[in-house]
Amino acid sequence: MLETPTALLIDGTWRTEASGGWLRLIEPATEQEWHRVPAAGPAEIEEAVAAASRAFREADWAGASPRQRANVLFRLAALIREHVEDLAVIESRNVGKPIADSRDEVLAGATCMEFYAGGISRFGGETIPVAGAGFDFTLRVPVGVVAAIVPWNFPFLMACWKVGPALATGNAVILKPASLTPLTALALGKLAMEAGVPPGILQVVPGRGSEVGDALVGHPLVRKIAFTGETATGAHLLQVAAPDIKRVSLELGGKSPYVIFADADVEAAAKAGPMSVFANTGQDCCARSRVIVEASVYDRFLEAYVAATQAIVIGDPLDDATQIGPLVSAAQRERAERYIALAREGGGRVLCGGERLRRPGYYLTPAVIDGLPSGSPVCQEEIFGPVACVMPFESEPEAIALANDTQYGLSGSLWTNDVTRALRVARAIETGVLSVNTNSSVHIEAPFGGFKRSGMGRDLGMEAMRLYTEVRNVFISLPRESH
Ligand code: NAD
Repeated sequence: MLETPTALLIDGTWRTEASGGWLRLIEPATEQEWHRVPAAGPAEIEEAVAAASRAFREADWAGASPRQRANVLFRLAALIREHVEDLAVIESRNVGKPIADSRDEVLAGATCMEFYAGGISRFGGETIPVAGAGFDFTLRVPVGVVAAIVPWNFPFLMACWKVGPALATGNAVILKPASLTPLTALALGKLAMEAGVPPGILQVVPGRGSEVGDALVGHPLVRKIAFTGETATGAHLLQVAAPDIKRVSLELGGKSPYVIFADADVEAAAKAGPMSVFANTGQDCCARSRVIVEASVYDRFLEAYVAATQAIVIGDPLDDATQIGPLVSAAQRERAERYIALAREGGGRVLCGGERLRRPGYYLTPAVIDGLPSGSPVCQEEIFGPVACVMPFESEPEAIALANDTQYGLSGSLWTNDVTRALRVARAIETGVLSVNTNSSVHIEAPFGGFKRSGMGRDLGMEAMRLYTEVRNVFISLPRESH
């Protein structure tokens, strides 16, 4: 049984008290307090950054052989797999996430560690034929101290997406989980130490972003910020990081399109559609919340889409049958409810959902809304709750225009059985990832990230290893031998 650490991990030791007070963790399914975790204040951030900087220079991590680092990451993956059930239960109770989803995410975290462990020996520089007389090559060197700041919707997985490639490339990482969901990040820190990650090379400092964010991001010894969260927070971080020209990668919000052409398998699209937006109770940056349907099949699609939405099993996160659980907090549920009220005021039809359940927990049934113009705030802003807007279109150019009529550009789905149309429309939709005739667009092996205000840089795949390294070019003069 994995004991849940409820302390800060700084320089290899657990701190049961910290200067930022306490984070009270409320279980979303019961509305009861479950744990208290000390919150880092600026003093602990200072200590963690100093320890990371020291460890980066002195611990044999960046300098360890690629095989040694890979072995540690493979051991970490094995430990994650060994504790999958415990980690999944912690995640489900902390976030309100269905246990089946939590298991998948924990296992994906292990796969992520394995991918980057394997990537270490495949990631290097190149030799370049330059004009001068000599030998020119590049090295990929770690950036140094990395601050990894992650959100509450996929706490363990987002932590692994950042920690995996950052450790693989030899950096020292300070992981700051969201204040609502620090537990599995702390567990990751514990397992990493067990696996042999040296003290100070991975530290975990729960804390409120508003109180410690600037201290961490603005610290001169932190060279790289890897952030996942809201667009507004990302924009703020960029400003704080600007004076020191820090490396910043941002995975931000989304308002993703779900486009159905009349030539598609409309029933399959309608059946798959609801979980593309309501999974994780809509608290998903990839949520396909702008449903854009060709007018000739609009009614048929909508009827099946609403029926599939109403068939979703809502319930206790720890029940294997549950497909969606409560929202993460009272505030997050109220936010979704405000948008549903706004939809009604704006003349939208709420075709189903938007109701609380008569039981404890921040439950809200998934809402499908139509009759709103694309420019409505309900169709434009990231709600991060179980709300989908459905809109009709008449022509392919109109479908593309609607898909792109948002400030975001993270992901999306396109349903058509016409392969030339699929290729044409996929090229025209402005998103970092797009799936055709499916909702699956996140693969550990492939780059993931957004266009426009959805972010910059790419997590996952070998792309992510670039994020955590600098390129050094070396030229060795080779004068011709004189005879
Ligand atoms: P958030 O921006 O409120 O918080 C994210 C993290 O940033 C937390 O750890 C938080 O404590 C920290 N933070 C807050 N203010 C900060 C500051 N001033 N300085 C430094 N750190 C600060 O986001 P959230 O509500 O936790 O997460 C939801 C958001 O995350 C949504 O917008 C969602 O779309 C986005 N998200 C994006 C992806 C992606 O890959 N693109 C994945 C998951 C979530």
